[in-house]
Amino acid sequence: MFRPVPRRGLLAAVVASVVLAACASTPPRNPLAEWRGSPNHDVRRARLVVLHHTDMESAEAALHTLQTGNSGGPVSAHYLVGRDGRLYQLVPEELRAWHAGAGRWQGQGDLNSASIGIEIDNDGQSPFPDAQVQALLRLLEDIVARTGIPRAQVIGHADLAPSRKRDPSALFPWARLAEAGFGLWPRPAPAPAPDDFDPWRALRLVGYDLADPEAARCAFQRRFRAHECRLDEDGNASWGEWLPGDLDILHDLERQRLEGGG
Ligand SMILES: [Zn+2]
Repeated sequence: MFRPVPRRGLLAAVVASVVLAACASTPPRNPLAEWRGSPNHDVRRARLVVLHHTDMESAEAALHTLQTGNSGGPVSAHYLVGRDGRLYQLVPEELRAWHAGAGRWQGQGDLNSASIGIEIDNDGQSPFPDAQVQALLRLLEDIVARTGIPRAQVIGHADLAPSRKRDPSALFPWARLAEAGFGLWPRPAPAPAPDDFDPWRALRLVGYDLADPEAARCAFQRRFRAHECRLDEDGNASWGEWLPGDLDILHDLERQRLEGGG
């Protein structure tokens, strides 16, 4: 049954909501310690950008999932890039969105804490339209200019979780991103790798976690060779092999890392 709120109760509710709003804007302080605040601080910063494709039919469907969850639980991302180039933001960059899940890159875990997540509206089988790529490049320029995230530190979801994820797909135009200076990318006509070159050591140095070496190789080939590994009966990528040119490219990427690239 509906009952009108008494006037005094309404006032108390308004005051309570104002107090709550004020509390919400003040980060909690540790009661174990005496607060001696300093003005010399700023927000914690991400040091990585992680790109995804949504694997869904539309931006609206993806927005709904990113505001609620999928079969695995609640998920989100900082941004979504529509097929038409429209940009949506769902989470402020200073906060931790839930897009990366379990994974490692360059030896670091908890990558949700360390990254800005960008979902790209794509069904997983279609090319990425020009308007969408242009919008993504504008967004990346904006992010690196404001945050100082190194341009080489733009990676794919599958790079950090090669045994679980396959996005963005082999159709994603990493070469175009590289032309604009984003993401690690081999230099033109890399020199041949030496005979004693260890591609697994190079993969690890580039950033890949080798808990599942075959999956890491598949992620490398999807990302740098636009090559998709075959799947076994259980849907796992396996039985891959090094493709002609893989080792030369890895050797060049390793050298870029050693020279301080990214
Ligand atoms: Zn993803």
